[in-house]
Amino acid sequence: MVQWKRVLITGAAGFLGSHLTDAVLAMGAEVVGIDNLCTGSLENLAHLQHDSRFTFEHGDICTPFDVGAVDFVFNFASPASPVDYMKLGPETLRVGSVGTVNALEVAKKYGAGFLHASTSECYGDPEQHPQTESYWGNVNPVGPRSVYDEAKRFSEATIMAYHNYYKVQTSMVRIFNTYGPRLQPNDGRVISNLMMQALAGDDLTIYGDGQQTRSFCYASDLIAGIVALAQSGEALPTNIGNPVEWTIMECAKTVLEVTGSSSRIVYRPMPQDDPRQRKPDITKACTLLGWEPKVALRDGLLLSMEYFQERVARQQVKS
Ligand code: UDP
Repeated sequence: MVQWKRVLITGAAGFLGSHLTDAVLAMGAEVVGIDNLCTGSLENLAHLQHDSRFTFEHGDICTPFDVGAVDFVFNFASPASPVDYMKLGPETLRVGSVGTVNALEVAKKYGAGFLHASTSECYGDPEQHPQTESYWGNVNPVGPRSVYDEAKRFSEATIMAYHNYYKVQTSMVRIFNTYGPRLQPNDGRVISNLMMQALAGDDLTIYGDGQQTRSFCYASDLIAGIVALAQSGEALPTNIGNPVEWTIMECAKTVLEVTGSSSRIVYRPMPQDDPRQRKPDITKACTLLGWEPKVALRDGLLLSMEYFQERVARQQVKS
C-alpha cells in the first residue's frame, strides 16, 4: 500500500469529501481540505476541529491555488445533487472545467497522484444496461442535466490529457448513487427526500410512476472502493457502486418498512431527462481492486436512520 504523507481533498466539506477525509486521516496522512461551502457544510468536518493533521481552507478551486507540497489530490469539489447543480449551473460547469484544471495543476507541480470524482451521469440516460466503462453514454448536451453531465465529461477529457501529455498519474471513479449519513437533508435526492419524509410523517414523493431504477451504494463501501482505486494507479474510468438495482417504488417501500412509517406515497411529475435505468457493471473494480460492496440497502438505511432522525428533529424545532 502506498503511504501518503499529505493529501489534498477538494470538496472536503461535502457528503463524500468529508467521509473521504476521515478515511485518509485514518490511513495516517495529513489532509488539507478545501471547499467554498456552496453545497458542503462545515458541520461535516466539525469532529475534526481539534485534529492537528487536518487543515481546512475556505476557498474556491476555480481560482488558481497552491496548498504546498502534497503527494495525492482527490478532486471532489462540485455540486452533485440534481437540485443543487440545476440551481448552480454555471458554477457546476466552472468547477468541472477551470476547477479541475487548477486541481490538476497542483498534482502536476508536486508530482502527486490524482483521483477525480466522476459520475454515472457520464452515461446519461443509458441505452446499455448495466453500464460498463466502455459505454460512451447517451447525454443530452443542452438539457437541464447538461451542466453537470458535460462538466464531468469535460473533466474526464482534461484528466486524460494531463495523464497523456504531462504524465500525471491520474484515476477517475464513476460514482453511482450513494447514500449515508451527511447526505444533505434538503438536496432533493431520492434517499434523503424519502427518509426525511418518512421520518417526519410526510407524504413520500415519487416522480413519474416510480418504475425508473437506481442502484444505491452505502457511503463506506464507496469510499473503500475509491481508496483502493487511488492506490491502484488505474488511469481509465472505473465504476464504483452497488449493482443491486431497485425501482424507485421498491426503494420507497423499503424506506417505509425500515422506518416503520405510515406515510402515504404520492406521485409528482417526472423531471425532464431523468434516466430511466441505472446499474453499474462493477466487474472491472472487482477484478482490478478485489473490492465489492458489502452493505445492502436495508442495512444502509438502518445505519443512516439516526442521522436523518436528528435532521428531522432539527427541522421540527425550527418550524
Ligand atoms: N426521485 C423521486 N422522488 C424524490 C426524489 C427523486 O422519485 O423525492 C427519483 C428521481 O426522479 C430519479 C431517482 O429518484 O428517478 C433518483 O433521483 P436523485 O435525485 O436521487 O438522483 P439521480 O440518480 O437522478 O441523479
